Amino acid sequence: MMKVALTEWQESATCCWCEKERECVSTTFSDGFLKEALMCWKCLQTAFKVRSRQQTDKGQPEKPATSN
Ligand SMILES: [Zn+2]
Repeated sequence: MMKVALTEWQESATCCWCEKERECVSTTFSDGFLKEALMCWKCLQTAFKVRSRQQTDKGQPEKPATSN
């Protein structure tokens, strides 16, 4: 299970995702996707969803379509 560590809060910083000046947190994903990246809360949630979905896809290899 992927974990997200929030190490630092900044009242105003440039979000690495949307590149806007926002309230940001320094974000590190346990799988190495992001390391101490400053992100706003909105993008943090988006990044987490995107990454979770990618990991789920990877964990479920496509099965060839078979019929009986
Ligand atoms: Zn953002």
